[in-house]
Parts: sequence; C-alpha cells; structure tokens
Amino acid sequence: MTTHEYDVVVVGAGTGGSYAAATIAEAGYDVVIVERKDAEEAGHIACGDALKGANNFPEEIPKSRLEPAFTNTAVDHGRFEAPRQDVELDIPVPGELAVIDRKKYGELVIEGAVDAGAEVHYDTVVKSLKQEDGRVTGVTAVKRGTPVTYEAEMVIDGAGALSILQDTADFSEATFDTNVRFSQFSSAYREIVEVDEPVDWYDALVFKPTKRSAGYLWYFPRTPTEINVGLGFQMSEEPMKLVGDLREDLQQREEFENATVKDKLGAALPTRRTYDSGTAPGYIAVGDAAAHVNPISGGGIAGAAYSGKYAGQQAIEAIESEDYSEASLWEYNSRVMDHFGGRYAALDVYNIFSTAYEISDLTALAGAIPGRQISEALYSGSSGVSPLLALRTLWRARGHLDTIRDLYGTKQLADRLLDHYEDYPDAPAGFDAWKDQRDAIMDDIYAETGAEAKY
Ligand SMILES: Cc1cc2nc3c(=O)[nH]c(=O)nc-3n(C[C@H](O)[C@H](O)[C@H](O)COP(=O)(O)OP(=O)(O)OC[C@H]3O[C@@H](n4cnc5c(N)ncnc54)[C@H](O)[C@@H]3O)c2cc1C
Repeated sequence: MTTHEYDVVVVGAGTGGSYAAATIAEAGYDVVIVERKDAEEAGHIACGDALKGANNFPEEIPKSRLEPAFTNTAVDHGRFEAPRQDVELDIPVPGELAVIDRKKYGELVIEGAVDAGAEVHYDTVVKSLKQEDGRVTGVTAVKRGTPVTYEAEMVIDGAGALSILQDTADFSEATFDTNVRFSQFSSAYREIVEVDEPVDWYDALVFKPTKRSAGYLWYFPRTPTEINVGLGFQMSEEPMKLVGDLREDLQQREEFENATVKDKLGAALPTRRTYDSGTAPGYIAVGDAAAHVNPISGGGIAGAAYSGKYAGQQAIEAIESEDYSEASLWEYNSRVMDHFGGRYAALDVYNIFSTAYEISDLTALAGAIPGRQISEALYSGSSGVSPLLALRTLWRARGHLDTIRDLYGTKQLADRLLDHYEDYPDAPAGFDAWKDQRDAIMDDIYAETGAEAKY
C-alpha cells in the first residue's frame, strides 16, 4: 500500500477544492487535491453554466484567470416564462453575470490551484475518511485498483453534493451536520445543444416551470447558438423523467428545431439550507459537500469558491496553532453563515412554502409580483414592500389572495429566521441552544405553510 503525507488533503478538484488548495499552497504548505476523474475529464461538471458575481471572486484564483471561459457576458437578467398562466416576467439580476464554458472554467480553476503550488492526483477515488480519537487524520483511496493512503493534519472535503466521505466517519461527537437526506436535494440534468439560428433571448437566463411535477426548466445561452438546457426537481416530489421531459419541451420550441446535442450530464444539487456546521476535528466540508448553494436559483459556484478560501485559511490557522479541534476551526462556520448561510436558510423557507401549494397558484403569483421585488428577495434574502407595489401586486393577483396572505406570513417567518442566523454562535459552546431556537422558528414555518418538515 502506498502512503502519502501532506499538510492538507483536499478531496475533489471542483471549485471548492481548487480554491481551498490554492489558498493553502500560496501560504507555502504542502497540499494535494485527490480527484476521482482523470486529467482529461476533470472539470467536466453538470451545471447550468451561469456564473454570478465573478468580479468579487477570491483573489487566490482571480476573475482575470477565469475570463477565457466567459462565453456570454451580454446576459443581464432572468426571464421567467409560464405560458400556461400567460406569464412572462423579466427579473433584473444585480451584479456581474456571465454564461461560461464550464469545462474550460473547470480546467482553469484547477490550473489556478496548480500554479499556486498544489499537486493534483487524478484517477484516485477517495473511499473513506481516516479517524483517530474522533479526529480526521487522512483518507483512504484507490488509484486504478491499487489502495492508497493519505495522511494529513487537515482534510478538506470538496467532493460535491452528497459527498460519500461523510458517511464513512463517526461525527456523533462533533457538531458536523448529519441531518442530511436525499429529499433535501434536487435531481438535475442538462444538455448543451447547438441551434441553427441565434436565439433572440441571448441576453437572458430563461426559467420555466415544468409541465409535470413541481420542477423547473432552464435555457441559458452560452453563445447565441450554443444553449445550456436543463431541468430539475426536488427529490421530495414525484420523480420526473428528466431526459424525456426535456426532449418534449425542446420539441415545442421552434428555436430548437434541428438542434444537435453536444454534451449531456446529470447530478444532484443541494436545494436545502447550508449545513449548520461544516466542521469536525481535523475536517472541513466546502461547496456542495456542505450545501453552499442558493436553494432557489441553484447557483453554487460562488459559494464553493468562497468556502474553499475560508476553509483554506482556517486549515492554515489550525496547522500553525497545532490545534485541530472544532473550537479552533469554528470561525469557518461563522464566516460561511455570515457571508451567505443565513441568507440561503431564509430563501429555503420559500422552497418549503412552495411544496405546500399548487404550481399554477405559485406561477400566477410570481407573475403578479414586480420583477424587481423578486430580484431583491432572491439576492438580498429579503425585501421591503412599498405600499404602491403592494397594492399593484394585490390587484394583479386578486384571484390568489389566500396564497398572497400565506406568502406574507411566510416572509415574516423567513425574516425572523434571517435575524436568528445573525446570532450564529461564535464558539461551539453556544451551538445547541442556537439550533434549538432555530428549530422552534422552523416549527412555526411548517405550521404557517402546512408543509411537511424538511429537516
Ligand atoms: C444540473 C446542475 C446545474 C447547475 N447550474 C448552476 C449554475 O448555472 N450556476 C451555478 O453557480 N451553480 C450551478 N449548479 C451548482 C454548481 O455546479 C455547484 O454548486 C458547484 O459546482 C459546486 O462546486 P464543488 O467544488 O463544491 O463541487 P463539484 O463541482 O461537484 O466538484 C466535486 C469534485 O469532487 C470529485 N469527487 C467526488 N467524489 C470524489 C471521491 N470520492 N474521490 C475523489 N474525487 C471525488 C468530483 O469528480 C468533482 O471533480 C448546478 C448544479 C447542477 C447539478
């Protein structure tokens, strides 16, 4: 058996893993990324290819390095289409937005980590975490049939949604969030299709509810003639036939006549709140492996980049203080919650709300709410309602006043939840009490919406 020793082992060469490794390597520590795919395939990730906020990406792999992958920077708004409810709504998207060549982007983030000094071991599937006295001390893996062991001071898990690593360790004495179920995730599938003529919505990210089940479809233009088309559904709902339903929708849109499929991929994505804690002694989970995804839009690239950086910095501090305990790593959780975790938890309340209503009610309601307000709710976590806007909304949604009233009640609870996340504890000692209070707010949310408990 081969044994490698590093300061830090990072599992997964995605965005989270690459940013973590770049941060650690830049500080002069020995870090390896262990990636199950081969060098050719690494960076090929199922995604809608929409990248938001790249101008503020961490400097460890700056935007300037990623720009060669930006194939459409003309895109500046979302378009919500619900033809059966006669709704078409343009929603402004604040900040910088691009649609990217995702494979090229994936290669560039890995290159960023390697140029910073990280090693990458491809073709190596991590099988389990190694744990001694409750502390994670490395991983076991298999490289082309041969067992390999990695020993390290710290392990960073960037292995993506439903990371199998987390099932191989005993976290019963740690704060690490183990309240994780399939039903909190979405199953999604996308194709890259080439069309004959440029689409006339080249500047928009187009969303649409699916015909069957409570799912959603998207069409994101990578170029005027190369479109990322995909769909997904929450796994708590009735399963969809992803490939067949996508085909059926494309056949009904004339711009996709004679379209050719260039690539296909499917995956799970966390449409749930950020893990309450992403740490255990010697271990930090980043990106999808800790649900750092906007649970409404499904955007997770930015969350993975930032949490990768925060985890890298925390790992360095732990090594320098020779303290790998949760207390030592806790600041990582605080930074994640402060940056986006609280906002994502509040947004998830609307996902919970939506499971208790008919999709036709919700789309009609969405059509009645001004796009700017939806945009504010989506990107700042909450939004104020001016009396004039409220009146206009009420008039346009007059057939759905019960749903509006329930939505308003749910919004109050989402705001309460957001406030509570602002009091996220600054040490593990306050964690249980904070969670108890948060769960009490969640109970009120389930009671108000009539939805089944998600957690
Ligand atoms: C269909 C779909 C559409 C999406 N659309 C968008 C979008 O438009 N915009 C957006 O911002 N986000 C989108 N997302 C979410 C986004 O893709 C993820 O949030 C982001 O890629 C997370 O990065 P990550 O580094 O955490 O994980 P990943 O990018 O999934 O990387 C994980 C890496 O770990 C490797 N790995 C996994 N298990 C092992 C193992 N056992 N051993 C070794 N290596 C392992 C994988 O091969 C992979 O390279 C979408 C997701 C899906 C599924």
